[in-house]
Amino acid sequence: MSCHHVELPDGHRAIVCVRGERRRLAKCVKCEQRTADRLCDFMLPNGKTCDAAVCAGCTSSPAPDVDYCPRHAIAPTQATLSL
Ligand SMILES: [Zn+2]
Ligand SMILES: [Zn+2]
Repeated sequence: MSCHHVELPDGHRAIVCVRGERRRLAKCVKCEQRTADRLCDFMLPNGKTCDAAVCAGCTSSPAPDVDYCPRHAIAPTQATLSL
């Protein structure tokens, strides 16, 4: 949470706190240009998905509704081992 001091028009001061700033649509982890509209579905050894944000141009989609980030699309076995 981040707090800001703001001065109100009537001279009073107030502290405005922003809670957990909702994450906007993330930028793609690969090109860092386009907005990512999907997350990597690669299943990690811990049972969670990678969830790396990738855009339509950088995803690798082995099946409908399945997206892999470039790291997992290139070398899924190695990526698994390195984690
Ligand atoms: Zn991209
Ligand atoms: Zn991934």
